[in-house]
Amino acid sequence: MNADVAVVGGGVAGLAVARQCLARGLKPAVIEARDLASGATGRNAGFAMTGLSDPYATLIETFGRAMAREIWVTSQANLRELVDEVAMREQIDCDLRPYGSLVAGWTQDETALLSRSCELLREDGFDVAWCEGTALAERLQSLRYQGAISVAADHGVHPVKLVHGLAQRVKTQGGFVLENHEVRRVEQHSEGVRVHTGRARVDARYAVLCTNAYTRALEPTLGQHVRPMRGQALCLEGVQNPLQTLLYTDDGFEYARPLGHDRVVAGGWRRAFAHDEVGLGDEATDGVQQGIEQWVRESWPQWSAARVSHRWSGAMGFSADGLPLVGVLADRSRVGYAVGFTGHGLGFAFAAARAVMRCLLGEGSAGIFAPRIARV
Ligand SMILES: Cc1cc2nc3c(=O)[nH]c(=O)nc-3n(C[C@H](O)[C@H](O)[C@H](O)COP(=O)(O)OP(=O)(O)OC[C@H]3O[C@@H](n4cnc5c(N)ncnc54)[C@H](O)[C@@H]3O)c2cc1C
Repeated sequence: MNADVAVVGGGVAGLAVARQCLARGLKPAVIEARDLASGATGRNAGFAMTGLSDPYATLIETFGRAMAREIWVTSQANLRELVDEVAMREQIDCDLRPYGSLVAGWTQDETALLSRSCELLREDGFDVAWCEGTALAERLQSLRYQGAISVAADHGVHPVKLVHGLAQRVKTQGGFVLENHEVRRVEQHSEGVRVHTGRARVDARYAVLCTNAYTRALEPTLGQHVRPMRGQALCLEGVQNPLQTLLYTDDGFEYARPLGHDRVVAGGWRRAFAHDEVGLGDEATDGVQQGIEQWVRESWPQWSAARVSHRWSGAMGFSADGLPLVGVLADRSRVGYAVGFTGHGLGFAFAAARAVMRCLLGEGSAGIFAPRIARV
């Protein structure tokens, strides 16, 4: 099979790269080891949010103020691309909903940090507000929280519909989508790359690795910078008066969102099981699931009649500092990568796709996604 760009991985990152190829008149071939969205993307809670899980004040401490601002600007642009371009203009049906988000303090210390972050964000020109008291309780349908940063622009999305909609566009515009083809090797020669699966060979000008948590098996050197971590979630049905917004709390370790009029997706509780929740295993475990359920029951005692309809987990790929890693391999300049989304694939996939194509085509740098490590 011949293509312009062989994209390895059929999650949100891979399909965002394939979409970027189409926009540039390049024919992509998306190659996925299992079914599309079998990785973290298909286990996703559907929060399309601005920023990273660390509060803005912490981002400033870690990266400096200019970079922290750039991270927020980039994720805002990513979100606008999803809302204005992908959903509105390209009409990809992905259940996009303008819920807005509340990033709420779990403890007094976290509330104080978020309050300071809210001020810093406003100083830097971002459209956020502080929410507390009755307004907070009403939007969350809970009295558990004292204060939260409200980001009106954040959305809920159905990640699997998003991936399938993008894949359909790839096919109708002449690209390929190969499922159940695990890539075993990516070779570079003088004019391009050759990608080998067990059953097929794709010749292309470039390849892009979008293999996130699974990177190490294919490219060990790159993979050592992406730590596989398990995330778990559940769905409650029969919920009367669900919360009205996306809720993120405890540094993003717990989260909940409405789904339709009587369901809620909730997840997290990884902090208490930090040593177990590593690796590529994707089974739901009793301890974490009970933790999530207990948090939900305590925060929303009025939902006691609701029952858990689904439980699941998935393998996320964590980078050392929470930002995705984008670039080209040190030993193969025609092979790019966009990995390490660290629980924020929806928040950065479209921006990372632009960045990796810029790098591969020699148009510019990966910007905030440039690896903060010596060589990969
Ligand atoms: C429970 C849970 C909830 C989450 N909630 C959110 C959320 O609300 N918002 C958010 O932004 N993020 C969330 N995340 C994280 C988010 O899902 C990821 O950041 C995102 O899906 C990463 O996308 P990806 O395409 O890079 O990786 P993946 O979706 O994991 O895709 C990688 C793909 O590559 C394929 N692959 C790997 N190796 C090969 C190979 N050799 N050959 C061919 N194919 C290969 C895999 O099969 C896989 O399908 C959540 C994750 C979990 C687990």
